[in-house]
Amino acid sequence: MGRKTTHKFKAEVSQLLEILVHSLYTNKEIFLRELISNASDALEKVRFKAQSDSGEPEIAPEIRITADEDAKTLTITDTGIGMTRDELMRNIGTIAHSGTAELARLAEEGKESLDSLIGRFGVGFYSVYMVADEVTVTTRSIEPDAKAIAWTSDGRTDYKLQELDEDRPHGTEITVFLKEDMASQFTNEAHLKHVVNTHSNFINFPIFVGEDRVNTIQALWREPKFQIKPEQYAEFYKFLTFDSEDPFDTLHTTVDAPVQFNALMFIPNEGGDPFGMGRENRGLDLYVRRVLIEKQNKDLLPEYLAFVKGVVDTEDLPLNISRETLQDNILMRKISSTLVKQVLNHLDKMAKDNADRYAEFWNAHGELFKAGYMDFLNKDKFGNLVRFNSSASEDDKGLSSFAEYITRAKEEQKEIYYAYGPSREALGLSPHLEVFRKKGIEVLYLYEPIDEFVMDSLRDFDGYTLVSAEHADVSKLDQFESLEKEDKPEALSDDQQSTLDKLLVRIKDVLGDGVTEVKASTRLSDSPVCLANPDGNVTSSMDKIMRVMSK
Ligand code: ADP
Ligand code: MG
Repeated sequence: MGRKTTHKFKAEVSQLLEILVHSLYTNKEIFLRELISNASDALEKVRFKAQSDSGEPEIAPEIRITADEDAKTLTITDTGIGMTRDELMRNIGTIAHSGTAELARLAEEGKESLDSLIGRFGVGFYSVYMVADEVTVTTRSIEPDAKAIAWTSDGRTDYKLQELDEDRPHGTEITVFLKEDMASQFTNEAHLKHVVNTHSNFINFPIFVGEDRVNTIQALWREPKFQIKPEQYAEFYKFLTFDSEDPFDTLHTTVDAPVQFNALMFIPNEGGDPFGMGRENRGLDLYVRRVLIEKQNKDLLPEYLAFVKGVVDTEDLPLNISRETLQDNILMRKISSTLVKQVLNHLDKMAKDNADRYAEFWNAHGELFKAGYMDFLNKDKFGNLVRFNSSASEDDKGLSSFAEYITRAKEEQKEIYYAYGPSREALGLSPHLEVFRKKGIEVLYLYEPIDEFVMDSLRDFDGYTLVSAEHADVSKLDQFESLEKEDKPEALSDDQQSTLDKLLVRIKDVLGDGVTEVKASTRLSDSPVCLANPDGNVTSSMDKIMRVMSK
């Protein structure tokens, strides 16, 4: 036996443990999901290593869960990759799990309840301390000559390490010394089977509780669609995302050309926080012939489709492909461009078949989706899918597509007008839009800085030019009749003209360098004055950049 050494947890671990131990979180059973998911990761690593060394794993890959009612312990054993001493210290002693660090930060902020945070993030290994007084991790790495090592901690301030002399196969055994009030629940085999079924049914390796094999291993995405029930999709979705609700939508496809793959993708009901730390939590799981190559691969779908969750499995990539070379792999790019088209076509069909349902999608994910203006290859599809509030909408909830705008446009009109403002009320009163209101010309209302980027980069839609109402050449509107009878302003007398000229000079004097120029305009009918950007001077872009930066 090696010497026993004591090590302090890193500060952030202690902080998280403190939070977990005192949490009133009721759904404590998720600790088992976390331990099984780690065991599964460790088994995937062995399989991956064996594939790249083109061999077979020597020890049967499996996860075993045994309980001892008298000793009040629960043991989870895997035949996975194991950990060396260094890895143990690095992985279980500091915070490895990016979600965990995020959770600790948000918990500290205290804006969101701990319950919803734990449910949303999953807390990794440390969640075991919600049910444990003490935990022992005994592990041996697959590395040749690696020594078995034991890690023990009560989850307070430090942990102990000890090298073991015994010779054991590679893998990890985690013994959980259950808290008094958790013992009966988590030593009950029937209950354990239920928990495994609920959270870990789709794990890719056999899981045994006692003597019984519990999960049915099934690559759902490779099954024929007609054989899959909606409940199975929902179950798989929850397994994949930890979401407690059913998915909003499911997209299951098989593609044979130009590259073979199966994909099972989901759109969640809620958008989450795509711009914050949630950004890391995106990507599709990539499998090659049922072997997991990379979780949450970031190259298959662009960021604006980050709300899509799911898996892709292909026959066409070599199993021993390294994660580094995936990025510039040409097949990957083909899979990616096909996937993007599929998602966009799917959304397009939803929009055409059921506008209300599409509006639901848009309200949950539209803000992120708008970043798709950068996807020039799919510009037309993207243009079909964006939505804006409009002067023609009944209220600020109303959504209009460019195509709908066009059906309402005047016969001679060749422009789609838009205006950016803080709210529907503000735009409804804006002097810039007076002439549009007078003539009954629809204006799309933009409330977010990104909306202007969308317009700037699309430039046109179906032969109609996208034009900022603020910068529009209003003489183009002369051809359109006013809705009400207009009192055409009479020509000014010389006297009036000179008074007006004096007034303009006076205003310029008072405002000084605050304005570039003060001039008379025929644009206004009800408002006395309005501010305009000098042509070609895109000050509102500056404005929007400042807004983005100050967010
Ligand atoms: P995550 O799984 O997100 O990385 P965890 O807190 O669940 O975060 O686990 C931390 C790390 O500990 C894992 O990344 C892994 O390196 C290591 N680990 C945990 N359990 C095992 C296990 N059963 N076998 C091998 N390594 C493990
Ligand atoms: Mg984990």
